Amino acid sequence: MSHTVIELHTDAPTKPPVDAPCNGCGVCCALETCPLGRLRFLQRRGPCPALRWSAAEMRYHCGLLRAPAEHFSAALAPLAARLTARWISAGSGCDCDADVQP
Ligand code: SF4
Ligand code: SF4
Repeated sequence: MSHTVIELHTDAPTKPPVDAPCNGCGVCCALETCPLGRLRFLQRRGPCPALRWSAAEMRYHCGLLRAPAEHFSAALAPLAARLTARWISAGSGCDCDADVQP
C-alpha cells in the first residue's frame, strides 16, 4: 500500500464517503489532477494548480470553474467554465476513494 502526503487547509472539511455530496474537502485535487486539469496544466500529480481555498465558504473550489479567466483567454473563459462544469461533474457525489488519515 502506498501513501501520499497532501497538505490542505486546517479548516477544510473532512472528506465524505464515496457518493456522498461533495463538500469541497480538496482531497481529490490535492492528490492528482482530473483529466481536464491534466490537459490544462500538463501534470498528473497533485496538487492541481487550479485548486482554490475559499475562506468565506470554508471549502475548496475548482479554479477552472470559479475563475476561468485566470486559466483561459477572455474569449475562451465562458465556454471553458461551461465545459468544466460538465467534465468534472460539478455538483455530483464524491468519486474519490482515497483512504484519508489525518
Ligand atoms: S469530490 Fe470528494 S474528495 Fe473531491 S473535493 Fe469533493 S468531497 Fe472532496
Ligand atoms: S481542474 Fe479543477 S476539478 Fe480538476 S483537479 Fe484541478 S481543481 Fe480539481
